[in-house]
Amino acid sequence: MSPHVAMVQRDHVRLKWRQLYPEPVLKRARSTIWTCLCRATVYELYEGGGRAFLRRTVQLDRKHEVHETSIYSISEARAIWMGLLSGRVR
Ligand SMILES: [Zn+2]
Repeated sequence: MSPHVAMVQRDHVRLKWRQLYPEPVLKRARSTIWTCLCRATVYELYEGGGRAFLRRTVQLDRKHEVHETSIYSISEARAIWMGLLSGRVR
């Protein structure tokens, strides 16, 4: 079952979410885990070639709004992912 993100903590770390580049930043990056699709905002962890980033998709009525973080090492990105789920990062 896909996880849900916890309510964000007041003193959380703010990630810098940026618009997608036309070209994929990491070649062959694959979504390895994602949050439950029942929420309007879905987060995914992408990994590829020993590096990783997070993608945030806001499901709007007519189109989806997609943003991504910078590229991190896989261990850093997984730590950020855990922080996101627990509400320490957003
Ligand atoms: Zn759900």
